[in-house]
Amino acid sequence: GYINEKISVADYTETELISEAFNKMMSRMKVLDDSRQEFVSNVSHELKTPLTSMKVLADSLIAQEDVQAELYKEFMIDITQEIDRENKIINDLLSLVKLDKTSADLNIASVNINELLELILKRLRPIAAKSNIELIFESFRPVTAEVDEVKITLAISNLVENAIKYNIENGWVHVSLNADHKYFYIKVADSGIGIPEESVEHIYERFYRVDKSHSREIGGTGLGLSITRNAILMHRGAIKVYSKEGEGTTFTVRVPLNYIS
Ligand code: ADP
Repeated sequence: GYINEKISVADYTETELISEAFNKMMSRMKVLDDSRQEFVSNVSHELKTPLTSMKVLADSLIAQEDVQAELYKEFMIDITQEIDRENKIINDLLSLVKLDKTSADLNIASVNINELLELILKRLRPIAAKSNIELIFESFRPVTAEVDEVKITLAISNLVENAIKYNIENGWVHVSLNADHKYFYIKVADSGIGIPEESVEHIYERFYRVDKSHSREIGGTGLGLSITRNAILMHRGAIKVYSKEGEGTTFTVRVPLNYIS
């Protein structure tokens, strides 16, 4: 770029400067437009995949003569699974679109974060139990914060859901809460499969999944972490991840105790 060029601003005429600024703005808009187009194309692709499966399943049932009730039922179960998947993608997309708006849409109220976390864990405990995963909650102090309860719940639920989904049989998930005078900190650590080093930088991208086939099996849409990140950033917070393949993953979230001040 021209930052490195050894010509001072004084060497340019005013018209050249304006034209330079204009070009810069246009190329920024192009980047925005490209990413929007990519998003729309990804959305279409993701929504089409379950539809294609449903069509194939239905077509093959129609094509067969005298379908046995057993087989018919089997196909119908597969079709409903694809419908569930389509539903999940649409729900995630709607959450994401809501979170793409400005922070003016935050519905700030005083929230007991300890209770919020206890509730999330209570809701997810049955799912964790299926793989015999131990869910542990540790609070270093009681925390009350000015946040959007729905959005923070969504953000943290996604992290804990992932910690369960990408875990191993008999594993554990450790959720902890701490605070200082400015922020509260939530840590979600798991004993799971971990994230390959080269994938870590991509995990917040929409529709990104480390292992598409495995992730599909366990019902991932690739939107969860984008949703989480957006919700945290809306609160002027931050999110970080540490992961080691085969050992586990730890997400840490930092959110201001008082968004307004
Ligand atoms: P998904 O709906 O597929 O879970 P996310 O956006 O929530 O999508 O996560 C993106 C990808 O990051 C996942 O598909 C998975 O590969 C990886 N990932 C997220 N959380 C974890 C975790 N706790 N352990 C291992 N991998 C994870």
